[in-house]
Amino acid sequence: MPAILPEDSVRKLKGVGPKKGEALQKLGISTIRDLLYHFPRTYEDRGHIKTLKEGIDGICAAYVLRVVTQPRVARLRGGMHLTTFRAADESGSVEVVFFNQDYISQQITLGETYRFWGRVHSKKNRWQISSPSFEHITPDVVLPDLVPRYRLCEGLSQKVLSTLIEEAVHAVLPSLVDILPEDIRQAEHLPTLSWAMKTIHFPRDAQSLQMALEKVMFDELFCMGIGISLSKSEHAKLTAQRCERVDMTPFYQKIPFSLTGAQKRTIEEITSDMTTSQDDGATVPMRRILIGDVGSGKTVCAAAAAYLTAKNGLQTAIMVPTSILANQHYEELSPLLTSLGFRVVLLTGQTSAAEKRKIYSDLRGEGEHIDVIIGTHALLQKGVTFEKPGLMITDEQHRFGVMQRAELQEKSRMTHLLVMSATPIPRTLALAIYGDLSVSKLDEMPPGRQRVDTYVVDSSFKTRLHAFMRKQFEAGGQVYVVCPSIGLKNTETDQTEEFEEVYLEDILSSAQERSPLKDAISYAKNLAEDIFPEFKVALLHGQMKSQEKDYVMAEFSQGKIDILVSTTVIEVGVNVPNATLMIVENAERFGLSQLHQLRGRVGRGRRKSYCVLVSDCKGENAIARLSTMKQCYDGYQIAEKDLELRGPGDFFASLGDNAVRQSGGLSLTLARCCSDANLLSQAFAAGHLLLLKDPYLSLPEHQALAREVARVFTLESTTIS
Ligand code: ADP
Ligand code: MG
Repeated sequence: MPAILPEDSVRKLKGVGPKKGEALQKLGISTIRDLLYHFPRTYEDRGHIKTLKEGIDGICAAYVLRVVTQPRVARLRGGMHLTTFRAADESGSVEVVFFNQDYISQQITLGETYRFWGRVHSKKNRWQISSPSFEHITPDVVLPDLVPRYRLCEGLSQKVLSTLIEEAVHAVLPSLVDILPEDIRQAEHLPTLSWAMKTIHFPRDAQSLQMALEKVMFDELFCMGIGISLSKSEHAKLTAQRCERVDMTPFYQKIPFSLTGAQKRTIEEITSDMTTSQDDGATVPMRRILIGDVGSGKTVCAAAAAYLTAKNGLQTAIMVPTSILANQHYEELSPLLTSLGFRVVLLTGQTSAAEKRKIYSDLRGEGEHIDVIIGTHALLQKGVTFEKPGLMITDEQHRFGVMQRAELQEKSRMTHLLVMSATPIPRTLALAIYGDLSVSKLDEMPPGRQRVDTYVVDSSFKTRLHAFMRKQFEAGGQVYVVCPSIGLKNTETDQTEEFEEVYLEDILSSAQERSPLKDAISYAKNLAEDIFPEFKVALLHGQMKSQEKDYVMAEFSQGKIDILVSTTVIEVGVNVPNATLMIVENAERFGLSQLHQLRGRVGRGRRKSYCVLVSDCKGENAIARLSTMKQCYDGYQIAEKDLELRGPGDFFASLGDNAVRQSGGLSLTLARCCSDANLLSQAFAAGHLLLLKDPYLSLPEHQALAREVARVFTLESTTIS
């Protein structure tokens, strides 16, 4: 048989025909490499054996039991077959039950001992375990402690997928090439890729698993660092319209406050990017991210950039993720820029077809000139072309989807780009997360901001919390409640796991206790029906249609809703100055930066505001994290603390799927679980050194790396020789 290569189709594997091929496709697996990189979602901790008595009515666990009765198959009415037998340990015996799996009776032998994995129920003093997994215990086989569980889809069982992965691992390990040059691998004390792959899918113990995961993470981060550097050099070859410096005095005179030092500095950085030319006279398009805590005053910086652009006769597009936010920006910026003699228009999903047509033709220069257009991703549609494109600005960048980002990247190739985000990122991670963007920071708040008093409580405070909520309503305030889960059953994003599992992130950091998740749907129902029937309660979550979401948000901001129960979708910077209380349930489930972001939704008006973090988690780490929120009100300090306590993976995760895609289609599989900022710094530093020696990755020993970088970062062939 010819050797199987990683880039071969999974169809080359023995067990994969058209049907399984299609199922695998649904998981995004088409090549053998994809299959290898389909890492376990979790591992079952089967090395930790319980007695039946200990495990009774608990979660899934491992038991070592001897079979004490002959398996019997009974036929029930309705065509069901039931296989039963009894098995015992020193604490008692249990009835083991399987439905419609007659072959089980062939696999189980009376008197033999097996390791079972399942949940033991007590029913009228009888113990039962149904459809457990089991492995025969024999003197010559060592059973693994950690059993991988993979993400599945219809048509693929855990067993089938494990078998395929096993086959894939055996087939390609010999031809698997380490992208990491051998000298770097040794200097960093990392295992080989083949060893790591084998270990991730078939770990011997937690310690070797950790080593293996670190190796793969290092590779990903290393590749990412190199890709970012290379796409930076690629970008430097592009040119955009150069702007002339203009007198900003008229603009500043129209603003009702004086700028903070940080705002002045940021506006100068933007101006400098847009007005500087290279030796050959060309101007490299600006690629800048403006990071500033909620309320730090990013909008006025965007307005200043738009003013500069308009004064130069060029057009600015400001893009935001929701139409509420678009309206909000329009209401703020339109009077300002109009009074300075510029035309500002709004384009959202609600704009009528006739208006849209007019806007499109005006934008193209076929009608009245448009200086600034504010809108949702409707702005990225094909029909939207600019007569004199100068600047693109996006707000709340991390809320845009992958496709939108790719389109934005494409549309803004030859224009200046300013990205704004309220998520503070620690310095060590900025490069990884913002890739090829230069960073401006608003690290100074406008004067007179009030602090949102923060409390951490457990659910025994429920009654008091309800009384406190009532006080807010009576004073005319509004309340947000955030829950970690939606409450829709069986959706991919909303699985609540009951297994005793080892989570990747737990292996990589210290294990934390997991308390049951509150869900938004039942929470809202309970408040509306039982606690506050006289107030208006509404629900908001990510699975709702965007029109519904906009509608609820608008009602809330107009004060027609008293309590908004939501998932983290409300993170996006909508301004409801009347909201005075933010309650976060299962607060231990959120990153500190995310909590800070949520807290920033209140305290935006004149009313005194509060944030209550509810958690029943007793883990030391969780308590330490949450109490940070009581002491710390600065987004950057919080981000640094978050990095220290949870590691960088959470930043990738909390920024949404595409945070790391600035430079193209990079998807970090494992780096998201990375709990060690040093690993990231080391990987980036190693990449940097390598590029100093071989800037175009042209040495023969770097070819595997070059191919991998080209694969994940869709780079132009000229950058890598
Ligand atoms: P964000 O950075 O969250 O987008 P905004 O730009 O919406 O913040 O600004 C928040 C509020 O602060 C706005 O009402 C804005 O008018 C006000 N603001 C911005 N800069 C200043 C300043 N230098 N002095 C006083 N108020 C300011
Ligand atoms: Mg804003």
